[in-house]
Amino acid sequence: MIPTATVTSPNNSLFSRLRFVLVETSRAGNVGSVARAMKTMGFKELVLVAPKCADPLNDPEAVAFASGAIDVLQNARIVPDIKDALDGCNFAAAVSARLREFSPPVWTPRAFSSHAASQQSLVPAVVFGNERVGLPNHIVEACNVLINIPANPDYSSLNLSQAAQVLAYEARMAALGDGIDAGSVGFHGDAASVSQIDGMYAHLEQALVAIGFLNADNPKKLMPRLKRLFARTGLETEEVNILRGIARAIMSSTANNTPPRKD
Ligand code: SAH
Repeated sequence: MIPTATVTSPNNSLFSRLRFVLVETSRAGNVGSVARAMKTMGFKELVLVAPKCADPLNDPEAVAFASGAIDVLQNARIVPDIKDALDGCNFAAAVSARLREFSPPVWTPRAFSSHAASQQSLVPAVVFGNERVGLPNHIVEACNVLINIPANPDYSSLNLSQAAQVLAYEARMAALGDGIDAGSVGFHGDAASVSQIDGMYAHLEQALVAIGFLNADNPKKLMPRLKRLFARTGLETEEVNILRGIARAIMSSTANNTPPRKD
């Protein structure tokens, strides 16, 4: 099995700083789904402000929807109001589908995540509203920014946990820098040096002349085009050796033959 890329998260990374706050959530299943959305992206701090569902940490629907994120669900804190939820935070983002007349600056999830990931002194919170009525104005107005997920203008209201998933995903991408380090998965050889690649081009050119594909008196743009093609691939030493081997084989197989005419 190909190992997945490992990601180290230093203590002050966004993974340990970002808090998810749900205000007056009605459906226990949504609380469980948010826990799952968070854990799949590496976040763990969940705070519930005055939930409208009974016993959301143990409700069977919440537990079922949390699935393997039961730890995030059951470690969630329940607090009576938003002040308690934001205690210790120094940057709060109201997450809302609704733009309002009086609102803090409107950011995308990506802009927020990039800001939160790069400013390591920030202890940020993303604050989500109730499924039916969203966030009350007084909470939005108390936040530093409003995060709006730019959705279909004709139907822009996501399910609460899906909105949390978008936020968690963007925050993860920002925290990881380039996102998944796909470059660390699978086999990697040493990059070929410029002189190795130059030698291979010379060799390849001779082979192409030998088989009459390249007319030495009228080469046109064949070699520059091939060089451009190879330049896009990030050649490794071993690959350069293979290409030289092919050129050598072409040349030895044509050594006793006259190259075909190219009229
Ligand atoms: N009818 C409510 C929508 C509630 S959806 C309203 O008008 O606000 C539940 C929560 O999901 C919202 O409070 C918000 O936190 C989040 N959400 C849903 N869609 C969103 C969007 N397009 N952008 C930002 N947050 C969204």
